[in-house]
Amino acid sequence: MHGLHSTQLALCAAAFDAASNGLLVLDHEERIVLWNEWMSHHSGLSPQKVMGRTLTELFPELQGSRLLMALRGALHSGHPSLLSQSLNKAPLPLFSGPSPTPQQLRIRQAVKVLPLTPDGMPRHCLIQVTDVSLSVARERLLRDQAMELRACSHLDSLTSIPNRRQLDEYLARELRRAVRASAPLSLIMLDIDYFKHYNDTYGHQMGDQSLIQVAAALESTLKRPGDMVTRYGGEEFVVVLVDTDKAGAAVLAEKMRARIESLSIKHEQSQVAPHITISLGVASAIPGLNCEASTLILAADQALYQAKHNGRNRVQIYDPELLCGIRNQPNFRALQA
Ligand code: GH3
Ligand code: MG
Ligand code: MG
Repeated sequence: MHGLHSTQLALCAAAFDAASNGLLVLDHEERIVLWNEWMSHHSGLSPQKVMGRTLTELFPELQGSRLLMALRGALHSGHPSLLSQSLNKAPLPLFSGPSPTPQQLRIRQAVKVLPLTPDGMPRHCLIQVTDVSLSVARERLLRDQAMELRACSHLDSLTSIPNRRQLDEYLARELRRAVRASAPLSLIMLDIDYFKHYNDTYGHQMGDQSLIQVAAALESTLKRPGDMVTRYGGEEFVVVLVDTDKAGAAVLAEKMRARIESLSIKHEQSQVAPHITISLGVASAIPGLNCEASTLILAADQALYQAKHNGRNRVQIYDPELLCGIRNQPNFRALQA
């Protein structure tokens, strides 16, 4: 401010007070010599209350804080600092209103500490406080939205049950866990019988409604939190059953078959029943033996094919004797026959 005349000084003071962030200047003894309107408003402390006092006299909690270290770094060594917002969420007791209550949350702050070297005077220090509460809230909102989107991208848009992407991730994880724990894991692949005829007879929209009903009914038969029904594609579903061996999976598959039949969704063109039915293939991994997700899926698919072949509306357990070709692959040794 060297050489400023009184109008300029008055303007500087007005600008200092009009600033939309907190500004305070401390002298070389760490005593407050300037304190702007923003600081008064958000701390509830007028300039008269703070002039000539140190920050730790005003706010004893700052003893040993990073802000104090930064302040000393600026005053004694001339080092500027920026207090990272993520490490120091709210270093000063500043609130959104002029009369803070104990319940009020502190405003989130970004704090800059800058050495000042006025002509012919010992070094001073400027502390600049910016309210970043809004951008922190916006960031949190974006993060929440990203998480929501991620959750949506794992759900089938028609039936709202997990989709194939989620199946892939879940099955890979649960297979690794099953191998580590030497626990059984089973898969059911199921498909609606004569569904093409259903669409042809009742229309695609009715077909969609039936798919929603079937998905909900399948989900309602599962009781264990680790079990998952997923829409594999079209009118095919895959069920992952953790800690479940072949016999347990067969029982559940039969329960699902009966449950879909009991919905009694009219299907006059079906050649197995006057209502919607499903065919199911069951495959189980042998505990402790490495098994790939694709092997298990292929085996369940082969069993499903057999169920269709044997007349539909039934459960078929994977049986390597019935299935040509794949049983000779080393991967298939990890399956329960
Ligand atoms: P199968 O008993 O051998 O399974 O006979 P299918 O007619 O069910 O078998 P196919 O795989 O030939 O036909 C499946 C049909 O499922 C074809 C398609 O029209 C229908 N479909 C697939 N996805 C959807 C969907 O999202 N909505 C509706 N409405 N129909 C679907
Ligand atoms: Mg079908
Ligand atoms: Mg199909």
